[in-house]
Amino acid sequence: MINFLKKSIRAKISAAIFFIALVPLAVMSVFLYFTSKDAMFRNVYKELTWNVNEASSQIDRLFHETGKDLVLASQNVAFKMYFFDKEHKDKWLGEQKKTLKHLRSIYPDMLDEACFIRADGQELSRIIFDKLADENELSSGEDRSHFFKEAFKVKEEEVFHGEPVISEDTGRWVLPAATPIVVNGKKAAILHFEVSMAHFQRLLKKIINPDRGYAFVINDKGEFLARTDMNIGENEPFPKAVSPDTPAGLAEIYKKIVAGGKGIDQFSFNGNDYYVSYRPVDAGFEDRLNENKWSIAYVLSSDRIYVEFSIIRYTILAMAVIILLVLILTYFVGEYVTKPVRELAHATGKVAAGEMPSFEVKSDDEIGQLSKAFRTMAEAVKRRDEALRGLAVTDGLTGIYNHRHFKDELEKAVKAARRFKRPLSLLMADIDFFKNYNDAHGHTYGDAALRKVAELFSKNLREVDIAARYGGEEFAMILPETGLKDALAAAERIRLRIKEEPFPFEEQQPNGDLTISIGAAELGEGVEPLEGAEPPQGAQPLQGATDAISLINAADKALYSAKENGRDIVWPKV
Ligand code: GH3
Ligand code: MG
Ligand code: MG
Repeated sequence: MINFLKKSIRAKISAAIFFIALVPLAVMSVFLYFTSKDAMFRNVYKELTWNVNEASSQIDRLFHETGKDLVLASQNVAFKMYFFDKEHKDKWLGEQKKTLKHLRSIYPDMLDEACFIRADGQELSRIIFDKLADENELSSGEDRSHFFKEAFKVKEEEVFHGEPVISEDTGRWVLPAATPIVVNGKKAAILHFEVSMAHFQRLLKKIINPDRGYAFVINDKGEFLARTDMNIGENEPFPKAVSPDTPAGLAEIYKKIVAGGKGIDQFSFNGNDYYVSYRPVDAGFEDRLNENKWSIAYVLSSDRIYVEFSIIRYTILAMAVIILLVLILTYFVGEYVTKPVRELAHATGKVAAGEMPSFEVKSDDEIGQLSKAFRTMAEAVKRRDEALRGLAVTDGLTGIYNHRHFKDELEKAVKAARRFKRPLSLLMADIDFFKNYNDAHGHTYGDAALRKVAELFSKNLREVDIAARYGGEEFAMILPETGLKDALAAAERIRLRIKEEPFPFEEQQPNGDLTISIGAAELGEGVEPLEGAEPPQGAQPLQGATDAISLINAADKALYSAKENGRDIVWPKV
């Protein structure tokens, strides 16, 4: 990794961006994630607790306030005077009705019925909703009910709250309450009213936001009395909390709730977690005169909680995507920025290997300037290289190839000829009586003559032929794709060309002319067997020169023969 960083600018840029910008961003995201999660769960617990406490205190208040109002109403003289002042019964009955009407007016949306009942079970006055009962509508025998008996047991100014019943008069669930009227130290009657159970349902729905969760009021028999996500029938049996479909976790929690427990529990259902906050309603559990042991619970689904949390999660996801994009962008920016540098490095490698790289300079920035400078330098190097190479292969005096280059080229030519079984010939030429020419006219004339002869060699050969100065006044010519016959013809042509050429003082040469002798040789025919292999069927045995050295020797030998046989001739003679 460290080595990689050392080598790559792109990696350095990426690392810099990563450490300067992304690491703090990532750390922040993680921090945000955990702190928000924490805060969110604290809020959820608050919400759970607040909701059950609020619902519980509202129900408590309802019990206490209605009870107080019932006691206040019972203190109206009309109820006692009915027994004392028997002559004016009707007047007191009228007053009672007014009181009942007043009571109804205090709770218009929840007080279903109020009535005044004598100890023998005879109703004396009654109101159902807003309707006062006529005398013939009043019933007797109310004393038979459990509620009536219990209500008579409480003391003056105490209120008895009974369990919900379906009212005979309204036909719907009501919660009865009553307080005794004491006359001469004896309980002579009760003042009784009935609160609609539907009211609790409405009360709960007002407090609980149905988008968040649901709440219910449950009695000690495990029946739902009110539930925000359910319509409990006004006159049907209360729904049982535990059914065969109830998840085991929830059934356990119901048990605790019904037993008057308090707390926050969790259960899972259909892969989702639910939080349940529950507590008893004090009014029932603390009041010995209240038969209603009710509890309140509020249930919140975790996916509701996660709606909020998902916003945080999406924010963090977005940050992660940004981080990724920045990294990708960094990679490409690095790629873009360092591309010319890499191209330059590549080009440098090529120059070092002796090639001339072709690369475009697109930008004008620092790297662009460097590239331009590099190209200028590479071109200068190339020119110098070429000049140097030229110098290395050419002969200083004559300007044609030197001995070394001749040897290289001959090696190559021999190899190629042998591989492709092509003819190859070599000519060796030597100026006749040149020592004489030098001695007589000096080296300046000798050099000029050498230059002239070299020029004539070059001019009178094919493009593919190679003429070189072999040394002194000897020259060599490589003739690829040429058999001995054609080589001799070419040699003869050159010999004549030089013979014709006028040279200063040539008439003073021993033979009255400046001439050359040429020896020719051809690369031996046939196929050399591969090492360890039989020669191909019908292959001729090797004859004559088979390599560069023997070819040179053969041509040299021929040249010697030309000299022996009188000079100014080509050997072998045709
Ligand atoms: P032959 O016909 O047998 O070749 O006789 P020759 O005199 O040409 O042969 P020899 O080998 O005796 O002489 C070669 C002469 O070539 C010797 C030298 O004066 C001359 N020579 C060799 N190199 C140069 C050179 O670079 N410049 C000049 N001016 N003369 C050279
Ligand atoms: Mg010589
Ligand atoms: Mg000579």
